[in-house]
This record gives sequence, C-alpha cells and structure tokens, in this order.
Amino acid sequence: MATKKKIRLKKKFKKRLKLLFLLSVIVLICIFGGKKIYENVKYQKTLEYQFTKKGYEIDTFKLVDAKCNDEHKEYLLNEDKIDYIKYIIGNKYYIDKNFEAYLSYYQENSKKSFEDIISLVNVEATKPWYEGVTETDVSNKYEILVNKYNVLPENYDVGTIKTFSSTYAYGTVQAEETCYEAFIQMAKSAKLEDITLILTSGYRSRENQTSIYNDMKNSKGAEYADQYAARPGSSEHETGLALDILTYNAFTETFKTTKAYEWLHAHAHEFGFIERYQEGKEYLTGYAAESWHYRYVGVELAKKVKEAGITYDEYYAFYMENR
Ligand SMILES: [Zn+2]
Repeated sequence: MATKKKIRLKKKFKKRLKLLFLLSVIVLICIFGGKKIYENVKYQKTLEYQFTKKGYEIDTFKLVDAKCNDEHKEYLLNEDKIDYIKYIIGNKYYIDKNFEAYLSYYQENSKKSFEDIISLVNVEATKPWYEGVTETDVSNKYEILVNKYNVLPENYDVGTIKTFSSTYAYGTVQAEETCYEAFIQMAKSAKLEDITLILTSGYRSRENQTSIYNDMKNSKGAEYADQYAARPGSSEHETGLALDILTYNAFTETFKTTKAYEWLHAHAHEFGFIERYQEGKEYLTGYAAESWHYRYVGVELAKKVKEAGITYDEYYAFYMENR
C-alpha cells in the first residue's frame, strides 16, 4: 500500500515537473518574443529605419546622421527621396548651414558637378560678383578674406606700412611690416638659388584703389573695369598683405613660364605666402589667373592652404568661417 502511494506520488510529481518545464518554456518564449517585438518597435522609431524605409542606403543615412542637423534630417524624411543627396552631403567640403542653398542651386544647375555646386555655394559665387557684399571679419588681420563678396571696412587699419628698397622693387612698393619682412626673407632665400624676385606692386590705399577703378570705369566702362580692376574695398592690395612679384625679363603674361614662378610655386608657403588666383579657378575667386599675385597669410595657414589644394576662398569658407 505504501509503495503504491509512493508510485502515485512520484507520477504526480513527474507530471508537475513536466508542467513546470512547459510553463517555463512558454514564459521564456514570451519574454524573448516580447523583447524582439519591443526591439522591433523601438527600431522602427529610429532614424536609421525611417531613412532605409524611404529607400536611402545605410551609408547615406550615416552621412546624414553625422553631418545634418535635425531640421535637415526631418526635411529629407518628409520630402520625396533625393537620389543625389549622398553626393552633396558626402562631399568633403559640405557645410550644413548651406544645405538648402546646395539643393536649390543644384535644381537650377543640375549639369554642374557636385564639387562645383559645393564650392560655388560655399564661396557665395552663385550670385553675380559684388552682389550681397558684406564687411569682412578683420579680427585676425593675416587671416583676412578679401574678395568680391567680402570687403574691407572703409576705416580698415593696415598697421605699419614699410617701403621696400630698390633691391627688391621696381619703383615704390610698400607692404604691411610682417609681410614686408617675410618677403625679404623669401627673396634672400630665392637669391641663394640664383633667382631674383622683384616686386611691382604692394600696398594700395583705399584712395589709390578708388582712383584706379574709377579711371578704368570712366575710360572703358563699368563692365571692363570690373573685369580688370577691383572695386574699392575688394582688392587684397588694400590690406598691405598682397604683393605682385616678377623677375628679370618677365612680364605678367610670361611670369608663369619662369624659374622664379617655379621656385615660388614650390617655396612661397614656407614664408607664409599663397598664390591667390589660380588658373581654372576664376569662377570661384572672381579674378583672372594671376601667377604673380601672392598673399601673405602667415606660415602656418599658408602651409595648410597649399596642402588642401583649394583656393583661399574655399579654404576660408570651410575651415575658418565654419569652425
Ligand atoms: Zn596683385
């Protein structure tokens, strides 16, 4: 009798154990399944999900996520998918504050390359020259940007101006003192390699630039004047930091073919100078290529600009204004 009871109890126990096991399995399934559903719901709320659902590649989403503010992310989610957005946002020189400007400029200029769209918007050259001109930031005088959209204030303080001796210049050429010293160092260094650098133009006062521009405008018209001279305030020569450099037996037209140009191209940055108006970049700088026009920006910045391989206008927009 006792054994029978024992067996019955054992069976009952086994049954309960089975039930318990079954229950545990169900509970576990519920926990993990629920978690999965929860995670899924949670994922569906993520931007990654929303962007990929809209048809964007995951790499495009990552670019958007890293470079765009919330407003721009929302815009992309609410508008139709923009197939080319990765070329805009993926560009090295993309600046988020220009987001709308890139898109609207692309819509009107879809034949231009994305590189050009980015560069043109960054340097403001989507507008006619001199349109929407603003006073440039002069807080760091060597890093100043002067062009057809960023002009010097009328009362700009150029600091101490020095006059070069006839060893270095044809006629009277002046420069701001740091630029003056840097040029002399550079000319001495070039001389060691039998290269003579001669200045033809340097600092010009506002009055001087005004009369150059007005004379040209009066004799040849405004269009011509705007092509060959800078309006007052938009010439780098007014900063005392720009120098026109030639060598013996060279004119501006032939300077690019000289050894002196070759030497400057290789070494100017070591003395703080950059070639300011390069060939093929007229649409960004607003000035015809001038292989003789050098701008003092300081050694550190000159090296960086040279290394970046872009115009100073582009460099300034991305690295300095955008910091
Ligand atoms: Zn010049």
